[in-house]
Amino acid sequence: MKIHTAAVHAGDRKKPGKHIPVTTPIHTAASYFYGESEILDKVFGHEVEGYAYARYDNPTNAALEELLASLEGAAPSAESPEARGGALATSSGMVALQATLLTCLAERRKKVLCAEALYGATVKLLMNMLEPFGIETRFVDICDEAALAKALETFQPGCVLMETVSNPILRVGDLARIAELSHAAKALLIVDNTFATPLLVRPLEHGADYVVHSLTKYLSGHGDVMGGAIIARGEKLEEIRAMSRVVGPILGPFEAYLAMRGIKTFPLRMERQCRNAAAVAAFLRTHPAIEQEYYLDDPA
Ligand SMILES: *Cc1c(COP(=O)(O)O)cnc(C)c1O
Repeated sequence: MKIHTAAVHAGDRKKPGKHIPVTTPIHTAASYFYGESEILDKVFGHEVEGYAYARYDNPTNAALEELLASLEGAAPSAESPEARGGALATSSGMVALQATLLTCLAERRKKVLCAEALYGATVKLLMNMLEPFGIETRFVDICDEAALAKALETFQPGCVLMETVSNPILRVGDLARIAELSHAAKALLIVDNTFATPLLVRPLEHGADYVVHSLTKYLSGHGDVMGGAIIARGEKLEEIRAMSRVVGPILGPFEAYLAMRGIKTFPLRMERQCRNAAAVAAFLRTHPAIEQEYYLDDPA
């Protein structure tokens, strides 16, 4: 399925009863009834499929999560069962980053090797919130392969954290190579794909272990909803979901609905935004008042 079609249809049109609603309903129930308490117990214990309690999952969020997994190339599919994965929708991009870092470092070295160019709040999360709990952070120029290799060897991080295209100065590292070097050093790779979006890059396909998003930005796109997401494959997603059932960083169902509605137009908006950015960059490039321009040219 093309990304334009997936953006409109993935996750939607589930058949809850006799009818198929064209768009996903907003399910506000905090918990669910079953005819027998024995069945409810089995749902709680994951022996029987179903919804039990909204901190665990919710049909509106499940639809958004299926959509996000599909956009990032992590949807379960018959053709590539090894790519089986999914998503967790969270209440902001920042909590998605925090939850991913804490989950992936739980049983690893409590050290994060970070790209130097990162979103400001991400740096604050690491320095002000996680360092006091003993999680060490070191920064490296992710575009300098020799410096990255040396930092991996000397610092021995539990994970590497980077943005596909850094916000706001647009630094781009070689994802596949960074994944390879990180894995050789037994570190997991977390990629914040907020700025690039899955229209331009799908980091899981280049070896990333976790993709994190702020849904607040291009994906939702209408300035009317805050949200985040974590996308991963296999056991890594299960660990994220296990953390979420206990910690509860979840998105509310109204926001999940708005995010899904916004995402339907995301590929079209993103294409236009890229074209507009190219026009603005071309104008500024020759402007006498501009000293330096940060712009990612299409190499084609
Ligand atoms: C905005 C942003 C975040 C944080 O997301 P919120 O939804 O504001 O919590 C994280 N990373 C990047 C690259 C961002 O632009």
